[in-house]
Amino acid sequence: MSTPAYRKRSIGSHALQPSTLMMGYGYDPALSEGAIKPPLFQTSTFLFSSAEEGKAFFEIAYGLREKREGEELGLIYSRINNPNLEVLEDRLAVLDRAEASASFASGMAAISTALWAFNRPGDVILYSEPVYGGTEYLLKHILPQFGIRTVGFAAEGGCEAMHAVAREAAALGPVTSIYIETPANPTGGLVDIAEARKLSESLAKGDKRPPVLVDNTMLGPLCQFPLDLGADLSIMSLTKYVGGHSDVIGGSVSASGEWLAPVKVMRTILGTMPDPHTCWLIMRSLETLHLRMRECVSNARRVAAFLAEHPMVASVWYLEHLPADHPDRAVYEKQCLSAGSTFAFEVVGGEAEAFRVLNALQHIKLAVSLGGTETLASHPSSMTHSDFASEDKRRLSISDALIRVAVGVEDADDLIADLAQALAGLSSL
Ligand SMILES: *Cc1c(COP(=O)(O)O)cnc(C)c1O
Repeated sequence: MSTPAYRKRSIGSHALQPSTLMMGYGYDPALSEGAIKPPLFQTSTFLFSSAEEGKAFFEIAYGLREKREGEELGLIYSRINNPNLEVLEDRLAVLDRAEASASFASGMAAISTALWAFNRPGDVILYSEPVYGGTEYLLKHILPQFGIRTVGFAAEGGCEAMHAVAREAAALGPVTSIYIETPANPTGGLVDIAEARKLSESLAKGDKRPPVLVDNTMLGPLCQFPLDLGADLSIMSLTKYVGGHSDVIGGSVSASGEWLAPVKVMRTILGTMPDPHTCWLIMRSLETLHLRMRECVSNARRVAAFLAEHPMVASVWYLEHLPADHPDRAVYEKQCLSAGSTFAFEVVGGEAEAFRVLNALQHIKLAVSLGGTETLASHPSSMTHSDFASEDKRRLSISDALIRVAVGVEDADDLIADLAQALAGLSSL
């Protein structure tokens, strides 16, 4: 069977880039009156052409039998599949260099559904710290209520902590997931993904080993490819760089078909998929992802350079500035194609000084989130990470002087002018 035009990834022997494939891959206009763009399929259910067809679709959806040669799962009901969801997932798989991808109603829906898929009472999850606030709450406060134990290790500074904690965790029960967020938010601490994979292999029992799940939101999908580095599942909040306009919430998990299967079953039953309109909006965003990301990254480089020279800035945690002798430097070089556009810096002083700067900003918006076209600034210690115990904040270096910036696509000189006037307020104290 020859590949239909909308599934071709090359012109003759010339392979097409993902940025090109985002305009048409996975969508057949002939199925939609020739519409250039995938229409919004605002429907909850789909017509079967015969009772036999309906029966066949359900046999596949519920895994009652293997797919026959060339057979695809037909459209049944929008919680299970729908055209907007399917085209989006085909494109996300291209971006993540994965066999398959599943989309979700939010980043947290993706993370929680994946963790529910692989962990049961008595099991142990190893995870890097700090993780996103919602993930931290899930790991520390919700999963333990179901008898799942969770053990954290500090992301930054080499693999010793991971291996030490792995020994501790294995004594508690079977380790069934290794969950890492790298770069960590907001500190930028890195975890070596290949080392996590080796750890997973060393924990294997027979042919079963704990999956390595990587939250790739901070650099994904263009500046880091976790699956190429040894991860089994690559997770993103599509709300951030992928959605890119701070107007939609979504998530994704990409993996081999085998690792993704239990996650998709769990999604169908929990109902954590995105609605068709969300898929449609995210697909629209994918067309400009490469352009936006390039601009965000180049702006962030300029902003970080400005901050690093400022007398009222105590430190800048921007990955490109990692000194050569820092233990994360080698991991950065190996794993990250760029430093992305979200990073933190400390002002000279504490909370009062950080608040003074945040309140003085004129263009940059004071809000949590990242990855949008507009630049945002926030105060991790009192906002996204406010429920961390103070000793954990100290251990993970989330200080009161820390400000996080998520640099957007505005003119870089304008962003620098805004930060300069806000920081000038500190010098005049
Ligand atoms: C925002 C974020 C999440 C959660 O995503 P939502 O879409 O808000 O549910 C998870 N991980 C990281 C690193 C994030 O920044």
